[in-house]
Amino acid sequence: GSVDVDCDLLVLGGGPGGYSAAFRAADLGLNTVIVERYGTLGGVCLNVGCIPSKALLHIAGVMEEVTHLHELGIVELTSAKVSVEKLRDHKTKVVTKLTGGLAGMAKGRKVTQVRGLGTFIDAQHLNVEVTSGDGQKTTGEKKVVRFKQAIIAAGSQAIKLPFMPADPRVVDSTGALELKDVPKRMLVVGGGIIGLEMATVYATLGTQIDVVELGPGLMPGADRDLVKVWEKMNLSRFNRVMLNTKCIAANADNAGVSVQFEGANGAETPAAGSYDRVLVAVGRSPNGNKVGADKAGVIVDERGFIKVDNQMRTNVPNIFAIGDLVGQPMLAHKAVHEGHVAAEVAAGHKRVFDPLQIPSVAYTDPEVAWAGLTEEQCKASGRKFTKAMFPWAASGRAIANGRDEGFTKLLFDADTHRIIGGGIVGTNAGDLIGEVCLAIEMGCDAADMGHTIHPHPTLCESIGLAAEVAEGACTDLP
Ligand code: FAD
Repeated sequence: GSVDVDCDLLVLGGGPGGYSAAFRAADLGLNTVIVERYGTLGGVCLNVGCIPSKALLHIAGVMEEVTHLHELGIVELTSAKVSVEKLRDHKTKVVTKLTGGLAGMAKGRKVTQVRGLGTFIDAQHLNVEVTSGDGQKTTGEKKVVRFKQAIIAAGSQAIKLPFMPADPRVVDSTGALELKDVPKRMLVVGGGIIGLEMATVYATLGTQIDVVELGPGLMPGADRDLVKVWEKMNLSRFNRVMLNTKCIAANADNAGVSVQFEGANGAETPAAGSYDRVLVAVGRSPNGNKVGADKAGVIVDERGFIKVDNQMRTNVPNIFAIGDLVGQPMLAHKAVHEGHVAAEVAAGHKRVFDPLQIPSVAYTDPEVAWAGLTEEQCKASGRKFTKAMFPWAASGRAIANGRDEGFTKLLFDADTHRIIGGGIVGTNAGDLIGEVCLAIEMGCDAADMGHTIHPHPTLCESIGLAAEVAEGACTDLP
């Protein structure tokens, strides 16, 4: 067949993994094409993930703060009502600004964008069904892109529960972020980061929230001590939190979506509930099996993940894969770094993806952030470690902020005293964890961190102070 576009490097998918890879490849001199079904770059993260959720969470946090100051009598308020319409506009503006910025960066680098749904024909050709509008409709027009090398960066999508009725009141995270209105009663299915971030936003807007989680605890994967602090601040904001509980059936009628539960792992079965909105946030499944990978000879596992080596190469030598579809954790910063590695290797450079840590953050209130090993992981693996805690009740800045519920926890290898993990719960924990990430990558020990002069009075001091605790140094409280 005829070839419409020819390139050195094809990137399939314009999310954080894909655009990062494409920009790096173009900077390194490769003639690069991005194929993306939607009209904007940025993928899930910019359009319906990280960024819009943080725009909403920021406003929710400010509202909580103002309300709290009002309760203390410091701030007088006659009304603290959020305009949902303005809030929606604000979120859209944030997203538009960023996607516009990406489009400009692509143009500046002469990265060609082809709009449409791409599927491999073989290991040198991609068929593109040109899409219009929302990316769902194909125009019937087809293009063929010929490439020397390709990077698959097609991301993931929300997992559906088969028994949930097809009803506009049943939504995934994308639907919840649309913020059509403020429902009276919402059920959040899944107590992971995405579910709890959305629960935080809606609780602030006045929605009565139930959370149902199959596992024994919220925020699976996070250090339990950190989660406890979050729970202490938040459980009273929710109507019901049902742990060890499964949703087993749902039915939609005029009165609402009624959902039935079943106790798991020996837990009692909670009473059924009726809701105006049900958010299904039970995880995401990779899009590896939706791109015709088999036609190119790329092996995809039964769940849809594509296996890659430490240079992000698939089993087919000229095809790489990155981001959510190569495995957990499904996070934007992991996708970006994998994208850079794939692009550099494609351009002939020596690089491997071999991080010592990939941080996780729940942008809830307070925030929960962790990097490297958790205490539970250390214990499970039998690794000898020492633990150092710095409670924010002893932080001048946290007290000045009126938010001293948090703490900073650092874990060090018992023999080398090098840092192997850390967790922070408290305001701005997500920003603060960056220092722990760098320390782990640099192989810092407790003295390196404790002897580093941190600015006073800040929350980041808590990291230096925790390290001093680990060293056994006598710490004067600020
Ligand atoms: P994606 O972002 O999924 O991008 C893939 C792109 O490929 C999409 O644009 C898609 O349209 C396109 N595509 C797929 N198939 C085709 C095809 N056949 N042809 C053409 N185009 C195709 N991560 C964080 O690190 N921090 C956060 O705070 C955070 N918050 C999140 C909040 C929510 C509500 C959600 C849902 C996710 C969040 N994530 C967060 C996860 C983050 O969004 C993903 O890890 C990240 O977007 C993955 O990047 P990616 O490049 O692998 O894929």
